[in-house]
Amino acid sequence: MNPELFEESNTLDPSIIWKNCLRKIKENVTLMTYNTWFLPIKPLQLSNNTLKIEIPSHFFWEWIDEHYNLLINNTIAEVIGPDAKLSYIINKVSNQLEPQSDYGGNGKNKDNIITGKQKVKHNFESYLNSRYTFEDFITGEGNQLARAAAVAISDNPGGTSFNPFFVYGGVGLGKTHLIQAIGNEIVKKFPDKRVIYLSTDIFTVEFVEAIQSNRVNEFSNFYRSMDVLIIDDIQFLVGKEKTQDLFFHIFNMLHQLKKQIILTSDKSPKALKGLNERLISRFQWGLSADIQPPELETRIAILKRKADTYGMSISREILDYIAVNITSNIRELEGCLIKILANASLSSKEITFELVKKTVNEIATDRKIININIESITKTVCEYLNITENKIRDKTRKKEVVYARQLSMFLSKEMTNSSLKTIGLHFGGRDHSTVVHACAAVENKKNQNSSFRTLIIELKNKIELSST
Ligand code: ADP
Ligand code: MG
Repeated sequence: MNPELFEESNTLDPSIIWKNCLRKIKENVTLMTYNTWFLPIKPLQLSNNTLKIEIPSHFFWEWIDEHYNLLINNTIAEVIGPDAKLSYIINKVSNQLEPQSDYGGNGKNKDNIITGKQKVKHNFESYLNSRYTFEDFITGEGNQLARAAAVAISDNPGGTSFNPFFVYGGVGLGKTHLIQAIGNEIVKKFPDKRVIYLSTDIFTVEFVEAIQSNRVNEFSNFYRSMDVLIIDDIQFLVGKEKTQDLFFHIFNMLHQLKKQIILTSDKSPKALKGLNERLISRFQWGLSADIQPPELETRIAILKRKADTYGMSISREILDYIAVNITSNIRELEGCLIKILANASLSSKEITFELVKKTVNEIATDRKIININIESITKTVCEYLNITENKIRDKTRKKEVVYARQLSMFLSKEMTNSSLKTIGLHFGGRDHSTVVHACAAVENKKNQNSSFRTLIIELKNKIELSST
């Protein structure tokens, strides 16, 4: 008997299994994410509940693991079964671009079994990502003050006058990196301190769950037991009155006990319209530091460091070219390098000037896709739900119109930078509290209903596509 055939009959067809996984994944991410991060994955084998996949690089894995860990785990559990595991190998060609030390001598094709998250010695997860360190945080004019304060805090958490420490600035400028670096440093220096990092979204979702299961006290005691509480993107508390109340009490308690509180936001505390005044005033008790976009020299330094980290050798000329052409934020700089790495490794090409130019151009095009506005959102939602656009702007309170209106308001808030007031004006001059209410209603439904979540993702995909 052909041993290969025998082998086949003992295992399931990995490509069919993976196709099923992909179908589920597609329902949960945007098209862009799907194409960039999931399509390049090759299923190799399925045996003993372990699905083996091939990916272009180790870094690629870190990225999807960091951003889509939960989605992947849930998906394979659903498709393969509760004991499902994933193992991956790195594609040999692309692996040459990676630092070798991570794998040991000839570990190129070694299976990497994915185990659960590492637990710290406390009985809770700190949610800190060890990738974010001070060493890897490049200093420039735009972030000098914030970084200096961050270092001072990590030497003496709760003991400086920088409490709370409030970091604000535009997207992709390093806020999350910096505050997680503080957390990591404190854990290293003071292993007994209880440090937790979480996004405002997670905090809110957990709070809602705590309410539903009658565990609000437990929830609040847990956060009050922290030595260092790090909460990211606090602007998302706007419109969430109950969560704001609870957070207010946790804040007061921790502050009184001289525990360190660290927050970020896309705006300064004063500009956080719609947030309870008593919170805004507390946010100003300590130090607020902003992060500004990096100047050219800093951009080059950051690129150089990232390229080294990924084990890419890129000429100074090319680095300059990227730094001159990509100016908006650091996430985009990094995205550009990753794209170059992926392009080079998928086609086993060298990193040439042509390839770099092409990639930089693609990124500029991607940015244009984000040409999304309230009109394009409304149009797509109405088409999808089969409702005439005018109805959305007039006074009708018919159920299906209200539904479409609320969805459009919610998506406008999520996908554009428009203020609540502007959004309200677009929907027949409604005031901002109507928008807040609509967003809360959608949010609520989204938390409770998975097919509704899927609908939202689908709509987002359509809106992205229609705005190209
Ligand atoms: P924000 O939270 O402000 O949106 P992030 O902290 O997520 O931004 O930063 C985006 C990416 O850029 C991250 O991968 C981060 O590591 C990187 N980055 C940001 N600032 C710096 C810096 N000063 N030096 C090196 N990398 C940085
Ligand atoms: Mg962030």
